[in-house]
Order: sequence, then structure tokens, then C-alpha cells
Amino acid sequence: MSFEWKKNLKRLTPYVPGEQPGAENIIKLNTNENPYPPSLGVLSAIEHFDTDSYRKYPDPEASVLTGAIARTYSVDADQVFVGVGSDDVLGMSFLTFFNGGDPVLFPDITYSFYEVWGGLYGIPFEKKSLRDDFTIDREDYTGTNGGIVIANPNAPTSISMQLYDIEYIVKNNPSSVVIIDEAYIDFGGETALPLVDRYDNVLVVRTFSKSRSMAGARIGFAVGCKELIGALCTTKFSYNSYTIDSLTIQIGAAVLADDVYFEVIRKKIIETRDWTSEKLKGMGFDVLPSDTNFLFVTKPGINAKAVFEALKKRDIYVRYFDKPRVSDYLRITIGTDEEMKKVIKVLEEIV
Ligand SMILES: *Cc1c(COP(=O)(O)O)cnc(C)c1O
Repeated sequence: MSFEWKKNLKRLTPYVPGEQPGAENIIKLNTNENPYPPSLGVLSAIEHFDTDSYRKYPDPEASVLTGAIARTYSVDADQVFVGVGSDDVLGMSFLTFFNGGDPVLFPDITYSFYEVWGGLYGIPFEKKSLRDDFTIDREDYTGTNGGIVIANPNAPTSISMQLYDIEYIVKNNPSSVVIIDEAYIDFGGETALPLVDRYDNVLVVRTFSKSRSMAGARIGFAVGCKELIGALCTTKFSYNSYTIDSLTIQIGAAVLADDVYFEVIRKKIIETRDWTSEKLKGMGFDVLPSDTNFLFVTKPGINAKAVFEALKKRDIYVRYFDKPRVSDYLRITIGTDEEMKKVIKVLEEIV
């Protein structure tokens, strides 16, 4: 039988996330999750939640959460847009701002969801090669384009770009929206948030998934000028008004209030990262300079895929990308001190 719907089906290549193995005793360093529990604010928000409010639809503006984000980052509430993880915010942004005939520009090695959204929405895009040292050349982003998206720090390279190079790109593309994906900015690098009040074409996207240990809650947000945020809201309200549920709105706000705990775990991960990096360098690994909660590493003469498989056999999950330019590398998320000591020990045995 021939089905009409199959004839015109979009041929999509979906994003492939890292594995989420069910086993208990594994060391999971493959999706850049935070090894520490979220703030106790989560528990208190759950305890104080009025379950009767579940009868009603949530606040479509998620005002409690957008207000808390606005206070935390010293911007106005109408400069903040929240979504179901930054993937939702980024997807909405592609749909809203990348709609011309010129290609959207992003690096050849970066978050692979960008090209997936390009495919989904039929947006032309052009990948600009990183330099040999995996840094971004700002001059690649000055030609005609339909928009620009840069992860800063970049993933999976872990390398960040200087703020004046980001500003150069923003300034030289006054008629394009430039999205800066700051999923890892709390672990290093300079935020582009100060540009938001000076340029009407820059959108900074952040997530609670990594630095705030909240990947399971799905909270992301964008900060930009009022007009960009208004456009995002128009797209969202044309698709699904109620993206964030009422409990998550409260939880997100409570987590933001706990900046003491946030600072503690953020600094701890940076410290563990630098320790792990030194250890790996001592073993002959090339470790790219990381401003993130992961390391991107290679070692002359080793087969990265074989090391990835060998680690998995020892219940240590890291990420391997079978892609041009990076197939000799492993991406290792920073876990607890104990986990990283184990990783070093096992790597010493394997390589
Ligand atoms: C993890 C990640 C995201 C998505 O984060 P969520 O908020 O969990 O959807 C976006 N961009 C980059 C570069 C990431 O690494």
C-alpha cells in the first residue's frame, strides 16, 4: 500500500544525543551533565507547590521565572525569553530569525543541532572551517549571511572566543541576528550579555542544564533586546503557549536564588577540570584549553574510538564523534574528583 503522507515526508537527520545507559554503577561522562545535585531550592519549591494550581494552565509568560532570570542578570523582564531547555530556545530562534535566502553561518565543528534545525526548517546554512588549532576566525563571519550562531565556549572543542571578537562579529552584521550559545559560559570565557544593551542584533542563549545541574528539568533562556524577545514570543505563542509547567517555573526561580551553592559547584568543577587536564597532559595527551565542564583530548598514536570502547567496557562513558577532523578526539565531561581519579587510573592502564 502506498501512503500519501510518506511521499512528502521530510528526510531529516535527527540530532543524536549521548547515550543514557540505565546501569547503576557507571561513570557517566558523555553528555556534559553536572556531577553534583541541584540546589536544595528544588526541594523547597516542590514542598511549597500548591498542587491545586495544577488544575489550571501554567502562566504562558512564566513570569516568576523570567523575573528571577531578569534580576539575576540585571536586565529587564521583557528582555528575557524562557524555553524547554536551550534546545527549545535555539530551535525557536532559528525559526524566528533565520528566514531569508542567505545562508546561516556557523563553524564546521560545533554543536551538531545547528545543522539539524537548518534541515528541519529548510534554512540554508554554510559551515565555516575552524582554524587548525580549532579556534574561530572572526573574519569568516563578515560576508553576506542570513544569520550567525556561535557557541561560546564552543563545543565539543571547549575553546572560548574573546568578547571583542564576538563584538566584532555582532558589529559587522547589523542586519543579521547573531546568536551566542553560552551553554558553558559559567565555566569560563567572557559573556556577551553586556552587548545586549548596545546592539539590537545579538541574542545570548543560556541553560540550567550544565552549570545549574538541571538537565532533567529542561530550562533554557535567551536574553536580547525587547524587539528580539517580542519576536520569539510571537513564534512561541503561534506554536505552543504553555511550554514550561507550573512546578518547573517555581523550581527554576528557587534554584536561581541559591547563588552561594551555584558558586561552590561551579568553582569545584573548574578546579577538578584543571587537575584532570594536568594529569592527562602528564600522560602525553593533547588537551585543548577548556573553558567548559569537559575536556577535548587526543593523544598521538592512539585510536580514540578504541579507547572509547575500552573505557565503556570498564563502565566509563565518554563521547566519541566519528566525524571529519575530530575522529582522533574524545570528549570527557568533568565529574567528581573521585570519578576523574578513576578515569585517569583506567586510562593509564588502557593507553
Ligand atoms: C547542552 C547544550 C545545549 C542544550 O542544552 P539544553 O538546555 O539542555 O537543551 C545547547 N548548546 C550547547 C552548545 C550545548 O552543549
